[in-house]
This record gives sequence, structure tokens and C-alpha cells, in this order.
Amino acid sequence: VKALLPVADALAAMLQQAPPPPSSEHRPLLLACGRVLAQDIYTSIDVPGEDNSAMDGYALRAADAGQALPIHQRIPAGTSPEPLAPGSAARIFTGAPMPAGADAVVMQENGIESRGLLQVQGAVQVGDHIRPRGQDLRAGTRVLSAGHVLQPQDVGLLASIGLAQVPLYRPLRVALVSTGDELVEPAAGEPLPSGRLYNSNRYMLAALLQKLGMEVIDGGILPDDADATEQAFATLAASADCIVSSGGVSVGEEDHVRGAVERLGELSLWRLAIKPGKPLAFGRVKNTAFIGLPGNPTSSFVTFCVLARPFLLQAQGASTVSPRVLRGRADFSVARPGARCEYLRVRLTCESDVLVARRFANQSSGVLASVCYSDALAVIPAGTAVQQGDMVDLLLLEHLSQ
Ligand code: AMP
Ligand code: MG
Repeated sequence: VKALLPVADALAAMLQQAPPPPSSEHRPLLLACGRVLAQDIYTSIDVPGEDNSAMDGYALRAADAGQALPIHQRIPAGTSPEPLAPGSAARIFTGAPMPAGADAVVMQENGIESRGLLQVQGAVQVGDHIRPRGQDLRAGTRVLSAGHVLQPQDVGLLASIGLAQVPLYRPLRVALVSTGDELVEPAAGEPLPSGRLYNSNRYMLAALLQKLGMEVIDGGILPDDADATEQAFATLAASADCIVSSGGVSVGEEDHVRGAVERLGELSLWRLAIKPGKPLAFGRVKNTAFIGLPGNPTSSFVTFCVLARPFLLQAQGASTVSPRVLRGRADFSVARPGARCEYLRVRLTCESDVLVARRFANQSSGVLASVCYSDALAVIPAGTAVQQGDMVDLLLLEHLSQ
């Protein structure tokens, strides 16, 4: 029997075979969130473009603060001020540009205004309450790099430099198929016949792909039949950048996915040292990348997050594809070191400033609720026992599904 492939080796091999990023297109900024930047973005302007007031108050020369100052100007945000005469002050509001000559802002609460004269309370330093020009971004700097997955705050930053159209990689087209004669689509009012099972993977995997900003081509449910599987894969390969299937990758004679891939292209890996999800398959159908996820929904979820997600992100042009790893204390033990790297579903709490991971009671790969009622996957490397209190790696589910 061939040894199971370690997760890290499988992932490295998959990433090496990831196709180059798709073509790019310019899209309006409002549609850019969650998508991958196709070019480095530089700013041609300083942000902010001028020194401006951080407070509602009075603009003045700090050296003049000891004397009563006539108020010669009123500068609301959005206006362009006159220079400030020495020995005078200007009423100014948050975000309004500083008048030339002024070097400080006194906040409203520290100014007493009577009969057009300002009396300042307390000390004033040059630079007080001024937001200097370019403090956010300097003209000429690189704001964001190609390969960055745009977050809401990034879209705000791009707006702040005046960008209206953003260069983005085209969304990856992923064909999604479920396999299994037992599968039935959820339908209102129809009882589930004996021996059948609702198709949960289709909905879960489509949602995971959509959250990655990818376009899902719905390949439906394939029967457990060699010819039908082969035909469907060949058709989908023509229109998709990648095919993702679930089920049918085990060793039973009702499992037809591997055979179809071998006949149409190449199976480059199969059977990984991962729990849950051992039978994951990877290869190509004609020239289209192929990922065969195991059928059990929890195995599908875990292998998607650990292996398919980084692969697909890279194929979509993203530069960071590995999930962030946190560390926390195990509130459980794993007595016997396993032959496979295990991804335990755990709940997290923070206790005395430390993350504590509690194992969901039923870790069966048939229990999808274990994922729903958890916050993270605790990574237990192959060959490792865990004692209660040991620190373990944690992958936040929130990070894995974005
Ligand atoms: P398989 O690898 O095809 O033998 O599937 C393993 C287990 O996962 C079986 O119990 C299947 O019924 C179940 N399964 C396969 N595909 C799905 C699916 N799309 N939704 C829910 N369960 C599934
Ligand atoms: Mg099956």
C-alpha cells in the first residue's frame, strides 16, 4: 500500500501546478470588494492633499496664543481659506484646510470668544490638532500590490486617491458537481425517500466559492456511472478554469471520479494523510485543473479549506493563499499520535488572556454540525499526541471562508 501523502507536500504540489492568473479587466470601485487586484496601485496625490484641521476650533500662530486675537475668517470644510494675518485667528472646522501662516489649531473648548476676539486657555504648541498633508499617503507610493484581495477598507483607500475603475483579475470559473445516486436536491413539501440524502455539499461548496469571489458553473448531480461521469467532466472542462467535485473518490466500485479523470487527463495525487478527508484527488481533465473532494460534508469542508481554497486563490491571482494560523491552548487531549494530520472542530473562548480550544464532542466526518457549532479547526499534526494544556495551531473558520 502506498504511503499517504502529507498535507504540506500535497499542497505544495498543487500550488506548483496552479494555472497562471486569469485575464484582467477594469471594474467600477463599487464592484471591486472581495476581488483580486491585477496591478500594483500607486497614488499620484498626497492624502490628505493639504494640511487641515483635526478639530472644530480656531486656527492661529502658536506664538500669538497669549494675546486676544481678532477673528478675521470663518473656514468650514470644503472652502479655500485666505492667508492668516499675524496677530489674528480664524474660526475653523474639522477637515477644513489650514490658512497659510497658521501653525496650530486650538480646540473650540479651549477658546473663549467675545466681541469678535478670541482668548485662548492653556498652552499651544506648533502643530497642535493639524493633520499634515500626506499623513495618510504620499504621492508616488505604492498603495496596494497586485495579488491583494480587496477588503472594504482597501476600497475606501482606493477611493481616497480618486480611483474609479480598478484593474482586477476576472473571477475564476469553477464548475461544481456533486456525485452520488443517493443525492436529492432540497425541495419544499417533498418527503425524503428511504435511502436518499439531501445534497448538502452543493450548497456549502457553492457558498464557499462565491465568498472567494469566484463564478460557479453548476454541474448538477452526477449518477454513480463511469460514462456519465466522464462525459460530464469533458463538457465542463471546456468552459471552466477548474472542476471541483464531491464524492466518488473512494475505493468502492461505485466511485467513478478517479477513473474518469485518468481517462480524460491525469490524476496527480490521491489519498492524503488528512483527517477528515483522506481520499482527496487532484489532477487535470484535459487541460482544466481538477479537484475531487471527498463526499462526507465535513471532509468536503475541511479539504476545501485546507487544499482547494489556497489552490483556487492562487489560480485567481491572489498572492497570499495560506490561512492565518493562531495559537491556543487545547482543553482536550489526543492520546494516540495519528498517522494523518487531524483537523478537529473546536469552539474558542478567551480565558486569562489565552485562547482556549474545546473539542466538539462528535468528530465524525458525517457530522456537518460539528463545523457549524465550532469557531476553528485545531491542527493536530500526524505523529503528534496532545495533552490537555498543550498549545495547538488554530485556523479560524471565519478566515477560511473568505
Ligand atoms: P462517497 O465518497 O461518494 O462514498 O461519499 C461519502 C459519504 O458522503 C456518503 O455517505 C455520501 O452519501 C455522502 N455524500 C456524498 N456526497 C454528498 C453530498 N453532495 N451531500 C451530502 N452528503 C454527501
Ligand atoms: Mg458516492
